[in-house]
Amino acid sequence: MKIDYLQELDEEQRKAVLESEGRSLVIAGPGSGKTRVITYKLLHLLMNGVKPSQILLVTFTRAAANEMIERAKQVTGMDLEELTAGTFHHVCNLLLRRYANRVGISPNFTILDEEDSLSLIKHVRTRVLDRIFQDEKEKHFPAPSILQKVFSYSVNTMSSLRQALLTLYPKHAEFEKIIEEIYKEYTIEKRTQNCVDYDDLLSLTVFLLENDPQVRYREASKYRWLLVDEFQDTNILQLKMVDQLSSVHKNAFVVADDAQSIYSFRGARFENVKDFARSDAKIFKIQTNYRSTQRIVEFINAMIPRTSVPKLLRSVKPDGPKPKVVSTWDRASEASFVARQILKLIEFGYEPNQIGILYRSHSHSFDVQLELTRNQIAFRILSGLRFTETAHVKDVLAFLRLLQNPKEKVSWIRVARLFPGIGAKTASAFADHASSVETMDFQEMFESFPLKKPSLSRLREIFSELMKEEAVSKKIERLYESFYKEYLEENYSDYTERQLDIQRLIEMAERYRSLERFLSDLMISEDVNQERGTNKVTLTTVHQAKGLEWDVVFVLSVNPGDFPSYYAVIDGKLDEEERIFYVAITRAKELLYIMRQESVQRNYFSWMKLPDFIDGIPRELVEWIDATD
Ligand code: ATP
Ligand code: MG
Repeated sequence: MKIDYLQELDEEQRKAVLESEGRSLVIAGPGSGKTRVITYKLLHLLMNGVKPSQILLVTFTRAAANEMIERAKQVTGMDLEELTAGTFHHVCNLLLRRYANRVGISPNFTILDEEDSLSLIKHVRTRVLDRIFQDEKEKHFPAPSILQKVFSYSVNTMSSLRQALLTLYPKHAEFEKIIEEIYKEYTIEKRTQNCVDYDDLLSLTVFLLENDPQVRYREASKYRWLLVDEFQDTNILQLKMVDQLSSVHKNAFVVADDAQSIYSFRGARFENVKDFARSDAKIFKIQTNYRSTQRIVEFINAMIPRTSVPKLLRSVKPDGPKPKVVSTWDRASEASFVARQILKLIEFGYEPNQIGILYRSHSHSFDVQLELTRNQIAFRILSGLRFTETAHVKDVLAFLRLLQNPKEKVSWIRVARLFPGIGAKTASAFADHASSVETMDFQEMFESFPLKKPSLSRLREIFSELMKEEAVSKKIERLYESFYKEYLEENYSDYTERQLDIQRLIEMAERYRSLERFLSDLMISEDVNQERGTNKVTLTTVHQAKGLEWDVVFVLSVNPGDFPSYYAVIDGKLDEEERIFYVAITRAKELLYIMRQESVQRNYFSWMKLPDFIDGIPRELVEWIDATD
């Protein structure tokens, strides 16, 4: 059966999809079908003889890639196992596992998440400061989290540490030399422990492709086509990767909306789109918004960020109600308005999973979470702590990570401290020992450690039991039954919930044959805990809501100082705040509620005259609702 998939596109979209070879850029506003165009481009290539293994598809989340693949499977009936798809981090992980040795790491490397990397930075920072300042305390030295931001920014913008420091924290510039030293030692630590952090995934891959023409040629020959969604949020490393991987066939198809560029704090640069456009790329525009009803599109057109290329979206959907600006008194009354409204909407026939609650900062959602719970409205949180960042899941993963890479200190310290009688000192002495001895054998590692303690013997036994199991899920089960179940019962009052999480982890592990694949997927997937398919209201930061849509959208706390964020405003980043607000309001299909709290206007921020998004809203385009009493 031949499905005429091209009929599901409008004229402008079809033109982009049908464009044959070369570099193409689709630049268009929200809801105009950019993601749809990527999906259909994929379909179109597959239907015209391009093999799945010749395509590289890069998306903002793993979930987005999966959705596109599902659609392509439906239409083509092909098996798409061989397609390379996922976020930039996923692609980097795949490449680095293949070629690790060429960049001086071993292929069983462990991926450090942000918390792991922070604790390693903390460790190195203390060591360096102790060495330099000895007895006197240096109180003004920047905190580990600041160092982490500076390191990350410097890697992702390919600028010097000095430049990163001057851009982000000029007041700490005097410490440049010491910060450089910490950075050096942090890098060495990662190498000796055979670990990489998220930024290394990107920078090592780019380094590999840049300096190894053989690898670059081999990989670039493989990919006849590169497809990239959300190109406006790529940074310089990601741009280089796109160039390197398309250096043989020169077919790169990217879509972007400059008005939705919101990741500059991670080094994303809108110039990438301009650079791409300036090259030999063909440029396509699409201008119809298919997502939102007409009143919302009018509002969106009026709220286009000042920094953006002016564009007007046409709407095809019916009128619909105007967006609403709802004044409440404080966070509690905002939360109760939102909960009451949701109850009404559900009664009216809206599905809970068609309702999204968006906020600038996670803390703005706490009252709403309480209120939803009180009203028995089921919700899921898209952002916030990820599943793999919760303490108990991390404990279990630490054991698995050591089985894969026994040199990694962060995990040694973590597992050792689960045992009574092992304090911080012993744990870190053992970690140093394990990462410095030649052997990779657990028994020898324990035997050669001078300090003998019953808890250490217990730990050693556990490892030897874990080694006996083949399957990843069996390893977790064994760990859980032999020790961790009891540990949870003794240490947490909410242990039943945590035990359920470990059961989930076991179920997830059942789908994997390789420990390494399981760990990599967990460490770089944002969506393992998204409970897809369940009918719940979604809570998320605007940053994580990119590309998504709901029938009903609430934007919380649109108050000066909250959204736009106080820190962004004083750092002169109001432009980016405008774009974040724009991303928020463009997620709504039918109903849009912009929430604001009067009490905030009247106290601490009022005298500062912080910018206020509500002031910029044309009065006639929205309905004003007073819910202050
Ligand atoms: P964003 O900028 O938010 O990422 P986008 O440009 O990627 O948005 P899509 O998510 O692809 O837009 O499309 C928005 C909505 O419009 C989706 O529900 C999509 O299915 C629908 N849509 C896109 N193109 C068409 C079309 N030609 N006909 C009908 N519906 C369409
Ligand atoms: Mg999109």
